[in-house]
Amino acid sequence: MEYHELTIEGAKKHLLEKKLSSVDLTSALLDRIEKFDDGIGAFITVDKQMALEEAENADKDIANNKFSTLTGVPIALKDLLCTKGIKTTCASKILDNFVPQYNGTVVQKLKESGAIIIGKTNLDEFAMGSSTENSAYKNTTNPWNKAYVPGGSSGGSAAAVSAQFCCAALGTDTGGSIRQPASHCGVVGLKPTYGRVSRFGLVSYASSLDQIGPITKDVKDAAVLLNVISGNDKMDSTSAKVDVPDFTKAMDQFEKGSLKGLTAGIPKEYLSVEGIDPEVEKVFNEAKLIFKDLGVQLKEISLPHTDYVVAAYYIIAPCEASSNLARFDGVKYGFRDTSSDDLIDMYKKTKSKGFGPEVQRRIIIGTYALSAGYYDAYYGRASQVRTLIMEDFSNAFKSCDFVLSPVAPAPAFKIGEKVDDPLTMYLTDIFTLSANMAGIPGISIPAGYASNGLPIGIQMMSNRFDEMSLLRAGYGFEKTIQLNKKFPNL
Ligand code: GLN
Repeated sequence: MEYHELTIEGAKKHLLEKKLSSVDLTSALLDRIEKFDDGIGAFITVDKQMALEEAENADKDIANNKFSTLTGVPIALKDLLCTKGIKTTCASKILDNFVPQYNGTVVQKLKESGAIIIGKTNLDEFAMGSSTENSAYKNTTNPWNKAYVPGGSSGGSAAAVSAQFCCAALGTDTGGSIRQPASHCGVVGLKPTYGRVSRFGLVSYASSLDQIGPITKDVKDAAVLLNVISGNDKMDSTSAKVDVPDFTKAMDQFEKGSLKGLTAGIPKEYLSVEGIDPEVEKVFNEAKLIFKDLGVQLKEISLPHTDYVVAAYYIIAPCEASSNLARFDGVKYGFRDTSSDDLIDMYKKTKSKGFGPEVQRRIIIGTYALSAGYYDAYYGRASQVRTLIMEDFSNAFKSCDFVLSPVAPAPAFKIGEKVDDPLTMYLTDIFTLSANMAGIPGISIPAGYASNGLPIGIQMMSNRFDEMSLLRAGYGFEKTIQLNKKFPNL
């Protein structure tokens, strides 16, 4: 087996048995990045020297039998997560020179468990987008076919895992940005329950929707990484005070009882969504049969407010974004325009030059929708719809353990195809937005391929804090369909 093919679990085994050093593994991945990332553009920053120093330290620990969950394992991070001493750009010009003074909680947790930070990955600017075409720096291509988008906004992280530049990565998901790129790149993506993972040190897009989660080569690795990053944090007042189970037990649950006794809800509204690709439908129907064979009972359910999800999300998210992004004013962080002579002009020029077109669009929409006289009609109304969406899911989970659905209405589209048509782009988020609106967890797992060879995933969503059911069902599905060993030839 080649080094780059190793999963987290595979790498750990080799490192523990001293068949491999972390320096060798990290160097092999850095060489692979150097060789292939020009054509993929998964990374914004790779700090070779820092990664190799961390790997050397990990090897010393291993030699002293000091072994933690991720000792010596290279992980990539979406460039929206603050990393002490490493540039954190959010793929924006406005943070072009921003080097955080501290690590975000998840980054700290990864470091404490021994992980090597191999690099910072590309994204849509401030995570606003579905294709990674809104990055101020470059496009990321889909490693399966470079004419296509990798999905977004965590397109760099998904492409990095798919291209086997790292053992695993972290992404963030505000409306699908972990699950959708994972689906388009043929890897596993898990958005945890809102509050499961601390957001401290994650640059906020829409604070009531954002969650950090793993993008991995297989389901077990998602469980391993979720174990490391979960837990209450006093630095994030929205982080939940709930126990963190050992998520890898979900694999044992499957081995013991298959998926017998579980019920999957199939939302009847989802398959009548306009523009759903027949190839996505086919993969979804095949997935249903696999679950049935594994002992899952399939049940039609209703999520009656599905039609309103996109509209409500695209009010709430820009409203929160317009408030969060007010802090980037040229005074406190990052880029400042120095050509102006007064403060107001400096604000204007800094923001106009520092933010890209999609970010500016959302700030304007959000500011408008929150302004006096419009608040009730837009933000207030959208929040009411959000409550109805939450209730749809609470009702659904009375009669099923998880909701099964496609991840996106179509496989990855061509670079440039939708970038000038924001509305069409927004509509592709129809199946993923609800989990964020309802605060529930969702997972995307490779399930098949389109006729052009691009991967297609399926999504499962479960009740709040029940990631265990997703991992159990996901693991069973993956074991049956066995797409977890399939990666693109670069
Ligand atoms: N595509 C959605 C948006 O642009 C979701 C992005 C995300 O999850 N960060 O808002």
